[in-house]
Amino acid sequence: MHGYYFTDNQTTDAKYSHLSSLTRLLFGLFCLTFASFSDAGTDQPTGGSYGLALDPVPTVNFVFLTPSNTQQQQAKDIIQHSSILATIKQLSQTRYIFAPSVDIVFGSDTGPNFDLTQQQIQIPYQYINQLLQQITTTGAYPTQQQRYQATTDALLLTLLHEIGHAYILDRAIPILGSSETTVDNFVVILLLNDIHRGDEIAINAYQIFSKQALNNSILSNNSFIQQHSLSQQRYQHIVCLVYGSNPARYQRVFDSLSLTQRQQQQRQCRDIYSTTYAGWLYYLDN
Ligand SMILES: [Zn+2]
Repeated sequence: MHGYYFTDNQTTDAKYSHLSSLTRLLFGLFCLTFASFSDAGTDQPTGGSYGLALDPVPTVNFVFLTPSNTQQQQAKDIIQHSSILATIKQLSQTRYIFAPSVDIVFGSDTGPNFDLTQQQIQIPYQYINQLLQQITTTGAYPTQQQRYQATTDALLLTLLHEIGHAYILDRAIPILGSSETTVDNFVVILLLNDIHRGDEIAINAYQIFSKQALNNSILSNNSFIQQHSLSQQRYQHIVCLVYGSNPARYQRVFDSLSLTQRQQQQRQCRDIYSTTYAGWLYYLDN
């Protein structure tokens, strides 16, 4: 009998000991899980939003080459003091997610350009100086702050444009028509839906590009301008997209047109915008 009890006890003990190790294991796992949540929590600002810990990492990196003169230094300062880097970075976490990540190099010898082999976007400092000079010449921006703002707005457009080329290649997005129009559409859809003051930037900055007298300037030699010198027609397409996104709000852009022409534009631009928006929404991350 003893033997049985002994055996039973042993069995029972064994069962309990088995259970308790399982319990210990589960409890251990629970503690581990809890501990990792706690650890994540301690790094967060008050408010305990664990969502912050799960934010995707930026998929673009900014590289600043050393400026070789004061003009280049000025260009570098203009970029670094603007909000466009934060905008570009944030969109690389949410809308255009690159894998592997894309380098944006400021201070390159050539560009603006997307170099596929190096997986990098290249922007010369001189390009920024040239934009500032161009904007200053228009006389439309009386204060330095306004001129810097207009310069970084135009630069944002250029950056998004090159990012558009990179994204199309990265995702193997089919190009049905002109790749430049496809990229312009990408830029305008992002400006209108994801970027503060994006509508204003679209209209003003594209206008700057469309009005440039570019002979003998670096702008005339760079790929952004040369391959797609922003013709009046291309500019009108961009204005049409902005208008089509909300004809009531952007009525002023077609103020000079007759009522009949405006009604026609309203129908056409609405259709063009909604088709374009739907197309890009399919390919952009959410
Ligand atoms: Zn292009």
